[in-house]
Amino acid sequence: MSNPSLLILPGDGIGPEVMAEVRKLIDWCAAQGLAFDVSEDLVGGAAYDAHGTPLSDATMAKAQEVDAVLLGAVGGPKYDTLDFSVKPERGLLRLRKEMDLYSNLRPAQCFDALADFSSLKRDVVAGLDLMIVRELTSGIYFGEPRGIFEEGNERVGINTQRYTESEIARVARSAFELARRRSNRVCSMEKANVMESGILWREVVTEVHQADYADVALSHMYADAGAMQLCRQPKQFDVIVTDNLFGDILSDAAAMLTGSLGMLPSASLGAPMANGRPKALYEPVHGSAPDIAGQSKANPIASILSLAMALRYSFERGDLAGRIEAAVEAVLADGLRTGDLLGPDGGSPVSTGEMGDAIVAALSD
Ligand code: NAD
Repeated sequence: MSNPSLLILPGDGIGPEVMAEVRKLIDWCAAQGLAFDVSEDLVGGAAYDAHGTPLSDATMAKAQEVDAVLLGAVGGPKYDTLDFSVKPERGLLRLRKEMDLYSNLRPAQCFDALADFSSLKRDVVAGLDLMIVRELTSGIYFGEPRGIFEEGNERVGINTQRYTESEIARVARSAFELARRRSNRVCSMEKANVMESGILWREVVTEVHQADYADVALSHMYADAGAMQLCRQPKQFDVIVTDNLFGDILSDAAAMLTGSLGMLPSASLGAPMANGRPKALYEPVHGSAPDIAGQSKANPIASILSLAMALRYSFERGDLAGRIEAAVEAVLADGLRTGDLLGPDGGSPVSTGEMGDAIVAALSD
């Protein structure tokens, strides 16, 4: 049987630096008996420089074929004046759209050693481990009609929140499946009190639950109340499923409960491929951090934890993912910090490479 395949797209800014550390972990996986066929290609500004487009058709075709795509980050000031159609971000959007990655998993996990980084009290966030499942390919960011129109003697801006039953059902399934691998609880968030699309969302999630996932505990919450509860008592949640707009906001809020951008991984999953694995793209939440690019200051942990998500959700190797997460926890507990993790008291930061090496070393302890 051939090895599972990975496509690495390092991208721009700190993307190549953090992906170099991910490579060390991929080598470690091979030493554990999970070898990958790894290929690498260009995305974002790097692809624009080489091919005049932020994602070539050839790279897009490769992304469709592999078992998982690992992406670094795209963008940078050099590309800010490019036409919208060829901006680096368009490469990422094309990947998400053409791979139809409708389920965006954003964990908010608080490592004990970093609990004081949160703006909330330590006891509110210590041990936090929740997952927001955001619908990624529909809703108000895509619905028609949209635009700015003349109406009478003034302009009106219009966006349309639109969800079909099948769009809601598939992301609900994704959340229920995920909950079964965790604490078996899902909280669905919408605004069924004031939005028809919210009423349908609640009905369809309930129907999917009753038909196929009655073993999972399901609750519903209005998204505004959910935002309050996330700040008040975040540990009450396990899996939260919500639409594109609310998910965008709630996942950013939840992420910040845990401290630095340099720690946050994500997964975007689509429908199962012929081999049963979902179409999948794993990437850190952060951007290309041009302010620190090329200086070995980037924190590689978000990208390394994104690889751990790939091991768990694409390759059924939760055991290896758990070991990587434990190694991250261990190096943080030892006091190792990249610059972004130094508190107001300062200290001496380790480099991107030193952090990656320490995590690999902790794995063999
Ligand atoms: P950013 O996430 O790149 O950086 C925000 C701040 O966080 C910066 O001070 C940066 O130094 C710091 N930071 C981010 N990641 C870090 C890491 N791993 N280690 C240490 N510090 C880290 O966001 P931005 O500055 O708003 O955007 C910069 C560029 O990235 C823009 O071109 C933007 O469009 C792009 N961007 C890309 C993505 C993506 O590729 N998914 C996401 C967000 C922004």
